[in-house]
Amino acid sequence: MSYVDEVIERVVAKNPAEPEFHQAVKEVLESLRPVIEANEEKYRKEALLERLTEPERQFKFRVPWVDDNGQVQVNTGYRVQFNSAIGPYKGGLRLHPSVNLGIIKFLGFEQIFKNSLTGLPIGGGKGGSDFDPKGKSDREVMAFCQSFMTELCKYIGADTDVPAGDIGTGAREIGYMFGQYKRIRGLYEGVLTGKGLTYGGSLVRTEATGYGLLYLTEEMLKMNGKDIAGKTIAVSGSGNVAIYATEKAQQMGAKVVTMSDSTGWVYDSEGIDLAAIKEIKEVNRARLSEYKKYRPNAEYHEGRGVWSVKVDIALPCATQNELHLEDAKALVANGCIAVAEGANMPTTLDATEYLQENGVLFAPGKAANAGGVATSALEMSQNSERLSWSFEEVDSKLKGIMVNICHSMADAAERYGHAGNYVMGANIAGFEKVVNAMEAQGI
Ligand code: GLU
Repeated sequence: MSYVDEVIERVVAKNPAEPEFHQAVKEVLESLRPVIEANEEKYRKEALLERLTEPERQFKFRVPWVDDNGQVQVNTGYRVQFNSAIGPYKGGLRLHPSVNLGIIKFLGFEQIFKNSLTGLPIGGGKGGSDFDPKGKSDREVMAFCQSFMTELCKYIGADTDVPAGDIGTGAREIGYMFGQYKRIRGLYEGVLTGKGLTYGGSLVRTEATGYGLLYLTEEMLKMNGKDIAGKTIAVSGSGNVAIYATEKAQQMGAKVVTMSDSTGWVYDSEGIDLAAIKEIKEVNRARLSEYKKYRPNAEYHEGRGVWSVKVDIALPCATQNELHLEDAKALVANGCIAVAEGANMPTTLDATEYLQENGVLFAPGKAANAGGVATSALEMSQNSERLSWSFEEVDSKLKGIMVNICHSMADAAERYGHAGNYVMGANIAGFEKVVNAMEAQGI
């Protein structure tokens, strides 16, 4: 049996009931096959893939907090420190009822290669909790965040592990966590990114994942002789990534016609009214069904369906496994030319293959959404030098990073004779740097 197949089998057997982690490991190792086969004996001897798929450290802890009725609630917290070969662990904190160890491990594993691709010195980690901030009062969110950080603060630090936001963790949550870290550890340091601008945050961090997604999409289209201006786009999600992806797409002269949330989706043939979306989602923390109040001619549908609309480009920006094989078939049938992942692993493996086989340009999340973590690394730099850079400076660095990532993934795919396979290219480019650092540092 080949080394890749052996390791995949071992990972599945060793980590039962973690389907998302298995999926991520399969996706990465399968696409690394040409590189691994070329070095099979050496990598096997070094147990390289066993080391790569085993987190350096993982924490699971109790998070008790008191709700507004005086009732004590108990959630589970996680932090997986996956790989520190190229820098301190870096990755977000997901707060969502679906969170479990397998999901955090899949995200942490992806983060290793994503962070490497940015070209910046950050290792891979991820954390979170099954706490649901939806429908909770500010005080309840604060109580949870303080309890979560009371435990987490023992394992993190500006030079060891620097968490940030992800689904469910935004500026409010980062603020409460930062306050608690400072209270307990007495250190005013850049231990979290995505901080508010008055206490060490970076300009552009809020917009970075969405803006970066569009910078990369624009470059990918350009490399293939196409232009983004005038294109029609389907976006899924209506959180931070979806909102700023839509904003940048509109600035680039494209028309975004859909957005979604966990209960339904909107179709606005005239183009999404982003001011309305920001008010519904960021100010009122309400449902997308409210959108019709602002735009009576738009359609609102319950359930899922954004991928059934005829568009040129699809940007899945909601969550993992949200674009299935039948969605990929609908997109291809409707003439879609490009898919770029704003979320982490939103496209299932069979859907990804179908899109690639049918000539759709496909940018995987670890490349396409790396703008968020890249700007987090820029926030770390600013914190270290106790300075803050202008919006233009951070934005132009972000753009440069995304353009570089686009070329690294294209070049790596070409080097191994798979030109245009950006999934393979992104994995290879991310992997090469991490492996080089792991080998240099010994066992
Ligand atoms: N959660 C984001 C991601 O998936 C950002 C992580 C960070 O900024 O550290 O990459």
